[in-house]
Amino acid sequence: MSSTSLLPIRFEDFQKAVADLGLEKFRARQVWDWLFGKLVFEFEAMTNLPAAARERLREAFPRILPEGYEIQRGADGTAKLALPLADGARVEAVSLPDDDALTFCLSSQQGCPVGCTFCRTGSLGFHRNLTVEEIAVQLMVLVKVLHAKPTNIVFMGMGEPFLNRPAVFGAIDLFTDPKQLGLATRRITISTAGVVEGIAELAKRPGEVNLAISLHTADDDARSLLVPLNRRYPLARLRQAVVDYLARTNRRVSFEVTLLRGVNDRLSDALNLVRFCEGLLCHVNIVRFNPFPSCSYRPSPEPAEKEFRKVLKKAGIPVTVRRSRGADILAACGQLAGR
Ligand code: SF4
Repeated sequence: MSSTSLLPIRFEDFQKAVADLGLEKFRARQVWDWLFGKLVFEFEAMTNLPAAARERLREAFPRILPEGYEIQRGADGTAKLALPLADGARVEAVSLPDDDALTFCLSSQQGCPVGCTFCRTGSLGFHRNLTVEEIAVQLMVLVKVLHAKPTNIVFMGMGEPFLNRPAVFGAIDLFTDPKQLGLATRRITISTAGVVEGIAELAKRPGEVNLAISLHTADDDARSLLVPLNRRYPLARLRQAVVDYLARTNRRVSFEVTLLRGVNDRLSDALNLVRFCEGLLCHVNIVRFNPFPSCSYRPSPEPAEKEFRKVLKKAGIPVTVRRSRGADILAACGQLAGR
């Protein structure tokens, strides 16, 4: 089953396809309005197109989106999509409704080469990078199933987005294109384990895409164990990349910290983090650890987490706790596996 959208995902390509079918140019715009405006994904229902045009389109594109995907729904409203790719692998994406917001968490790779030791995706190895189409189709299928457009997109699903920059930036260009979703760049967040070249490239791009860094600890030895990429981009190099990013963008950076019992949740860890954050326009996001089968880490107990936050707050560092969502369907942070 192909995961590629069966329609060309770029408007210009679709316009060309429409012309090749001998249809008037404006028919492409009409179809796009149905897809991205009314969220209708069947040609039959596109009633302002003549029956003959609908028939031609249906013949040329028997399916608008791929089939064979699965949706699991969690008790808290989270929905997890498992999407088969053309080569038989699967990627997962998650939808997180919250009051008046709807966030889609998308994957950028099948598996992940970074191999963070507390992450289920990382424990399963790396298969390959996704294409722009394979990223975009995750969003389109979620839009179709939920009949709703996202208000926010986060690249926090499977994979390290900055190790697949051309496709991730290409997908962002699509999502922010006024002819498609027209999402504001500030509604999009890229979460990286600390690929400094990606941080530099993001800083140079137009728009206001948010940057989140999975820091977890400000101790090099501990971080190298948790996030093996730290050996390639140690903390001093990563911090310098953040300094350069801030000098160029003046946009606040989020540091994600998954607190693990007895690993990175002690007073000394909090003080290390305070030193790392000193002088940076940043905010710390404490992420509750979501255990998965075969993992020996445990979440930090609540009193330890509270103390940790207290130290940061006392030092004047803004800190929030990210609520865990979708853990009952293995859709929470670090739980995606494509299986
Ligand atoms: S936490 Fe992110 S970067 Fe680390 S292994 Fe998991 S998916 Fe990859």
